[in-house]
Amino acid sequence: MSASSRLSAHEVTMRFGGLVALDSVSIDVPQRSIVGLVGPNGAGKSTLFGVLSGLLTPTSGTVTFDDADVTRASARTRARLGMARTFQHPELFSTLTVRDHIVLADRIRYSRARLWTDLFTGRGLRRPPADETARVDDLIDTLGLGPIAHRAIGDLPLGSCRLVEVARALAVEPTLMLLDEPSSGLDVAETAELAAVLQQVVADRDVSLLFVEHDVELVLRICDSVHVLDFGVKIAAGTPEEIRNDPAVRAAYLGE
Ligand code: ADP
Ligand code: MG
Repeated sequence: MSASSRLSAHEVTMRFGGLVALDSVSIDVPQRSIVGLVGPNGAGKSTLFGVLSGLLTPTSGTVTFDDADVTRASARTRARLGMARTFQHPELFSTLTVRDHIVLADRIRYSRARLWTDLFTGRGLRRPPADETARVDDLIDTLGLGPIAHRAIGDLPLGSCRLVEVARALAVEPTLMLLDEPSSGLDVAETAELAAVLQQVVADRDVSLLFVEHDVELVLRICDSVHVLDFGVKIAAGTPEEIRNDPAVRAAYLGE
């Protein structure tokens, strides 16, 4: 593990009964980097994602976040330490607007007490203080959500919902975001927009991204480093260029 490591998994093994879903897998997510995790169906991607996010406790091995051992820490504890995640199927409120979602997340970060009074007095999310407005506007700008900020989620295409999910995750100011198949269900234009946004986010903020993705081209395009799993074993790791030319990857994953 390097000094600038944000998250690392060290020799993680996960067994489900007799099945070895992860066999001594190590990965490292440096600060302010984009790391991709790819592999064919059944390779162990979701299992590793679960181990890193705190939904699963590995059979052996350790997970370290900012040098703290979080192998057995709950998802909630990891969130408090600065880990945020998005879901493969966005979990948003269909009647709330784009802006409401970001305001809610900002209040969870900055003014939890006021969030509850507003919600339970039925006054709605009124009279935001200037600093809140500035933070929310900044996220809406970063994610390019300005034109749809006042639309209800239920009226928006999946591509926009993904961006809202990313904005909401960023509002709690995480140092690491775990993204579960962020491009699934998106068309080519939506995927390109998401890719540009994710790169911009890492350029502007002290945050690292780790994402599990089936779209290999997307991963090779935007990641600083890529890890490839196959049958629970890490078969390759390196820069996109190295991965593209790796014979084992081409054999296992690109079907060559
Ligand atoms: P991927 O996300 O790369 O498609 P998974 O991590 O979902 O792969 O699965 C890896 C292997 O572990 C598969 O063989 C899968 O059937 C098995 N597996 C995953 N979760 C469980 C579980 N809760 N119980 C038993 N087997 C599981
Ligand atoms: Mg999976």
